[in-house]
Amino acid sequence: MCALFDPPEPRRVPPGEYPLWEQALALVNRDLRVTLPRLEPLQLLALPSYDAGEPENVYVAMANGEWHGNPLHPNSQDSLASAVASVADAAQETVVELLWQAWPLCPEHGLGMHLSEDAEEQLFWWCAGERLRRGPAHIHAAVGALDALGTPTRTRL
Ligand SMILES: [Zn+2]
Repeated sequence: MCALFDPPEPRRVPPGEYPLWEQALALVNRDLRVTLPRLEPLQLLALPSYDAGEPENVYVAMANGEWHGNPLHPNSQDSLASAVASVADAAQETVVELLWQAWPLCPEHGLGMHLSEDAEEQLFWWCAGERLRRGPAHIHAAVGALDALGTPTRTRL
């Protein structure tokens, strides 16, 4: 840590500034609400870049302002698919590292799931757990759809 300079305060990104990242984060927060209901929604925080003229760094952070991992790549705003891939990946890193637990878990196997993309650029949570009849590994649910498939016993509100 360097004590000579006060690091700049992270800025909470207001709505409308990074629409695709916000859209992607809304999907991820939906999955978070179903799987970790006690956790406050994740947020986008921005820090100025060290290099003048470079875009600011945007992170996927917990409600308390902590995050883990790299900023979102500016190019991941080119399409919703890459925004979802980038935001879900950053969210997973933040949650897993700061809560010290696998997330999201496959309700069938209790294993931490991984991000995967299909031919239509839809992002899925993928589980490595084996299924006896349907072969090894399975796509569990699209990012943002864990509430639809993830908890079949849950009563709908
Ligand atoms: Zn599974």
